Amino acid sequence: MSEAEARPSNFIRQIIDKDLADGTHTSVHTRFPPEPNGYLHIGHAKSICLNFGIAQDYQGQCNLRFDDTNPEKEDIEYVESIKNDVHWLGFEWAGEICYSSNYFDKLYGFAIELINKGLAYVEELSPEQIREYRGTLKEPGKHSPYRERSVEENLELFEKMRSGGFEEGKACLRAKIDMASPFMVMRDPVLYRVRFADHHQTGDKWCIYPMYDFTHCISDALEGITHSICTLEFQDNRRLYDWVLENITIDCRPRQYEFSRLNLEYTVMSKRKLNQLVTDKLVSGWDDPRMPTISGLRRRGFTAASIREFCKRIGVTKQENMIEFGSLESCIRDDLNDNAPRAMAVLDPVKIVIENFDAGKVENLSVANHPNKPEMGTREVPFTREVWIEREDFREEANKKYKRLVLGKEVRLRGSYVIKAERVEKDAEGNITTIFCSYDADTLGKNPEDGRKVKGVIHWVSAEKGLSAEIRLYDRLFTVPNPAAADDFTAVINPESLVIKQGVVEPSLAEAKPEAGYQFERTGYFCVDNKESTESKLVFNRTVGLRDTWAKISAS
Ligand code: ATP
Ligand code: MG
Repeated sequence: MSEAEARPSNFIRQIIDKDLADGTHTSVHTRFPPEPNGYLHIGHAKSICLNFGIAQDYQGQCNLRFDDTNPEKEDIEYVESIKNDVHWLGFEWAGEICYSSNYFDKLYGFAIELINKGLAYVEELSPEQIREYRGTLKEPGKHSPYRERSVEENLELFEKMRSGGFEEGKACLRAKIDMASPFMVMRDPVLYRVRFADHHQTGDKWCIYPMYDFTHCISDALEGITHSICTLEFQDNRRLYDWVLENITIDCRPRQYEFSRLNLEYTVMSKRKLNQLVTDKLVSGWDDPRMPTISGLRRRGFTAASIREFCKRIGVTKQENMIEFGSLESCIRDDLNDNAPRAMAVLDPVKIVIENFDAGKVENLSVANHPNKPEMGTREVPFTREVWIEREDFREEANKKYKRLVLGKEVRLRGSYVIKAERVEKDAEGNITTIFCSYDADTLGKNPEDGRKVKGVIHWVSAEKGLSAEIRLYDRLFTVPNPAAADDFTAVINPESLVIKQGVVEPSLAEAKPEAGYQFERTGYFCVDNKESTESKLVFNRTVGLRDTWAKISAS
C-alpha cells in the first residue's frame, strides 16, 4: 500500500486538498486547543489524530494551544497531563506550547479597536437581565439601555473593568451585532467578563477575562492557523468567529470547519461528568483504568498505536453517531494479538500435586512467546511437582464437551506434559483443596505414543516458582450504552466494573515493565499497572478479554 493510500480521506482533507490546489494556502497549519480543565479523553484523541495527523501528512504544523480563559476551572496539573498525553499518543507540536493567555494583551487591544469602531460596548445589565433581553429562538432580543453609549464612555468603562473598578457580574463588554439574529450567538455576545481569579499562567495580572468566542478566532489568526477544526456544537459560533476576524485589523484569515464529536457506548465523555466521577471517588482518579481518558486507557493497557488505529477506523464526518465500545476493544485486541508476548497466569488457583514428579526438582521448559512469531523468541517456564491451575479448569465429573481436567481423565498442561487427575482432597466444607495427579513423562511436545487422544489444554503456574500477583479485572464502567441519558449517570455504574483477584503468574513476569502488555493464555490481555505494581507486589490490569473463548484455542 502506498503512503497516499494509507492516509485517511475525509471532507476536511478534501477541503485542504482544494485549498492547496487553488492556491488559497501554500501550507497547512492546524491546532489542537484543549481547555486545561480536565484530563484528555478518547474524544480528544479523535481531534488530536485529526489535527496532528493532517499536519503530519501535509508536511504542515500543528500547535498545541491551551485555551485558558476560565481560570477558576483550570489547573496546571491538567496542563501537564495534556502535554504528556499528546506526546504519548505519538505527536509533536510545532514550536513552543501556546496559551490563549499569551495573547491577553493583544486581545485587550482588539477589544479597544472594536469599541473605537462602535462595535462593542460596556454592558451593565445583570447576567439575568442579559439573558432575559436576549430573547428566544422564536422571539428577537431587546436592545440593552447601555447599547448606545459613546465610544469615549465605553473606553473609560472598559478601562474601569480592567483596573478592578467593577465587581463580578456588574459589567461586561459585549459586541454590538444584531439582537434579532436567528443565531443566538450573534445577539450581542459577551466578549469580556470580570473575574477576580488568579490565573495559572498570568497570576493576578488580569481581573477581566476574554470569552472563548472572542479569544479562539484571534488566537488562531495570531498563530497563522489555516484550518481551525472543531466539533459541530460550534457550527453557529462560526458566524461570530468570522465577524470578529472581519472587524479587527489582523492579516491572517483562518477558516473554521466542524466535524461530529466522538460518542462512545458505555461511557461518558463530558469533562464535567468525568470530573464528578473523580471528585465523588466513584473511580480511583482521572487515570482509573475504567475511565475513557487517555491516561486511563493507557493504564488499562491500550497502546498509543491502538488508539490512533481506532481514530482512523471511526473516520471524520459531520454525522452524529454513537460508536460501539467493542470497536475500541477490537483495536487493542488486534494490536496485542499480534504483538503481546504470551504468558501464563492463574486467576483463581487450585493446587495440583504431581505425585510421580520428584519433589524439589525444577524442569525449565522452553515455551514460545508467540505462537505465530518465532522471532519473538522463547522463555523458560519452570515445571515442578506442585502447580496451580484455575479452579474452573477441574471437575470431578463432566461430559465430553468439557475439555479440561476431569477426575480420572487426562489434560495437557500448556507447553508441558499430559497429566491425569487421580484423586482430590477437600476441606470440611467440601471445597477441593488439592488435586493429586500423575504425569506422563513421555508427552513433552508430543502426543502419547499409544495413540491416546488428549484434546484439552489448560494453563498453569508452578506453585514453588510462581509469583503471587493482584489481578484487576476491569469491565465497562456503566451498565447501559448511553449513561449520559440516564437521570443520574452515577446510578448506572457497573458494580462489577472492577473485580480484584489474588492470582499467581509465571516467574518470567517478575521482569515485566510497567504498561507492558501480555496475553495471559486463555484468560485475556493484561498489562502491568503503571502506578501501583512494585517488585514486592505485582499488579496486572485486564485490558480486554480474548475474542475467542478458551474452547477454541488449539492444543500446543
Ligand atoms: P467537554 O465538553 O467535555 O468539556 P470540550 O469540548 O470542552 O469537552 P476542550 O478541551 O475544549 O473540551 O476540547 C479540545 C478539543 O477537543 C476541541 O477542539 C474539541 O472540539 C475537541 N473534542 C472534545 N471532545 C471531543 C469529542 N468527544 N470528539 C471529538 N473531539 C472532541
Ligand atoms: Mg471546550
